[in-house]
Amino acid sequence: MRLLDFLVLLLGWTIMSTATAAPFAIIIHGGAGTITRDKLTENKAREIRQTLARAVNAGYQVLEQGGRAEDAVTAAIVVMEDSPLFNAGKGAVFTADGRHELDASLMRGQDLQAGAVAAVRHTRNPILAAQAVMEHSPHVMLAGDGADQFAREQGLEQVENSWFDTPYRKAQWQKARQTASQSLSEELLDDAGLHKDDKFGTVGAVALDQHGHLAAGTSTGGMTNKHYGRVGDSPIIGAGTYADDRSCAVSATGHGEFFIRYTVAHDICARVRYRKESLEQAAEQVIMQALKAVHGEGGIIALDKQGKLVAVFNTAGMYRGWRTSQQAAAVTGIYEAGDER
Ligand code: ASP
Repeated sequence: MRLLDFLVLLLGWTIMSTATAAPFAIIIHGGAGTITRDKLTENKAREIRQTLARAVNAGYQVLEQGGRAEDAVTAAIVVMEDSPLFNAGKGAVFTADGRHELDASLMRGQDLQAGAVAAVRHTRNPILAAQAVMEHSPHVMLAGDGADQFAREQGLEQVENSWFDTPYRKAQWQKARQTASQSLSEELLDDAGLHKDDKFGTVGAVALDQHGHLAAGTSTGGMTNKHYGRVGDSPIIGAGTYADDRSCAVSATGHGEFFIRYTVAHDICARVRYRKESLEQAAEQVIMQALKAVHGEGGIIALDKQGKLVAVFNTAGMYRGWRTSQQAAAVTGIYEAGDER
């Protein structure tokens, strides 16, 4: 296996602050992978861009009205969880035993409060469960039945596990099972034609609100045909999600085992905070250098307190979108750097 040409997108857009209003911004992702033009019909690409724009705008509206960064993050993520296009909520991938187990986390930069759920099976919007853990429990992470039960007690909608099914993800799982006989080995996934592109699809959002606070959140079904009980990087604070007003906020997508071992989201923020690297430099070092060297595929979105937006990925594409208080409309991208419009 070899990584495709590495693509990096360093937006480097800083929001120009105006005399009257504090700057605000939101950036989202819908997963990274071998997302190339031959893999998506024009209609599908259009549908994805429209949904990304809808998610960006849902979060933007919260910020525009003076709302909190964490509420903007959850508003954007709920749109993507409810869409069957992404591997989060409805449309989540199948586990090896034919079910869905969902992971999510949320963190706010103001006070480093965080909440996460792992391997939930019945909570319709796992990101809202993560927020409830953060706001209404003394814990940071709840897993499995206990997480679903807590979400239910918090009044969050519960669904049958089959509610998350979609025909596409089922076919993907059946193919993976037939050919890979339940294994996630790279060679077998290659043979099955299921390498890279079908493994990812996590969603995430990062926001800066008018009060100058950052937040980040991530939600996923994990990886196709994963062992039940497997927990990826998305619900792990410091791996898939991190937010600290003193440095930056990050949401990741990619091969979770690498993102856990390299504590990707925290490493980027730590570089900014301690080494005084710019957000671009820090993201570039971690995604394009450290992860690339070990074939850890994926990408991140990030924001710093100045409103600098960054999207960096070492895969062919990453679903992404953003909007700052200086933009009249959301921008979305799917493929290589420069594809945003
Ligand atoms: N990071 C996720 C996981 O490993 C997968 C993804 O980003 O699509 O669970």
